[in-house]
Amino acid sequence: MRNDHRIRPDALLRQLGISRPEQIDLEAIAYHFGAHVKYQPLDGCAARIIGTANRAIITVDAHSPEQRRRFSLGHELGHWLWDRGSIAQLCDSAALRVARQRGDTREARANRFAAELLMPKSLFHTAARGMPMTFESVRYLADMFRSSLTATAIRLVELGSYPAMVVFTTHQGRAWYWGGPDVPRYFVPRQFPGNGAVAHWLLRSDLSSSDPLEVDADEWFDRPGAEDHVLLEDSMSGVNDTVLSLIWWKDESMLHRR
Ligand SMILES: [Zn+2]
Repeated sequence: MRNDHRIRPDALLRQLGISRPEQIDLEAIAYHFGAHVKYQPLDGCAARIIGTANRAIITVDAHSPEQRRRFSLGHELGHWLWDRGSIAQLCDSAALRVARQRGDTREARANRFAAELLMPKSLFHTAARGMPMTFESVRYLADMFRSSLTATAIRLVELGSYPAMVVFTTHQGRAWYWGGPDVPRYFVPRQFPGNGAVAHWLLRSDLSSSDPLEVDADEWFDRPGAEDHVLLEDSMSGVNDTVLSLIWWKDESMLHRR
């Protein structure tokens, strides 16, 4: 099988002369690569793709919010350009639910493709330069790149100027987390944030958000010496009693401590 349709998002954007976030017209990009995009209500699917050798139809759930539709479309385009030949029909139930999946699975790769297409590294890096690692920045960037808060928060942590982590917490505890490149891999957040953490209170109250707050690092990390450090935590409530948190090491000394 020839794989010359396999093109990375940055190369694709260069090829099409796209250099500003507002130029990222996903339907036009899909069309350019032989995929026709339709919007219709889908039951139990965020999006699906039906493809032959060189033509595909991507259907995106018309009921999803715009940012979700864009991510889903980017995800299906990733399948189209990278998994061609092995897709007969694929239905993605909740692309974002696995957006933070690392690894080499086909779904992780399609999510990565979507993130890199919607929020290209160089454009995002420039836009995020010097920005505080808070949801105020995430909202601003999500608006600029027309992407969801969760996907944008992950991208900010990956490409922003300062060390930070995104943590998603439910009543069952930590569901997933994503650390930036400057955060050592062995920094794993506690299963349940301590009762001094904002996330702890948001999970137990009707409040939906608070201002970013300085909290003791041991509210989030069980590490020797964590009690000597502080973090800036910005947390917000999501649907179904969930909390999304941005943890920012404004004081980086904790990261260098062994
Ligand atoms: Zn998929």
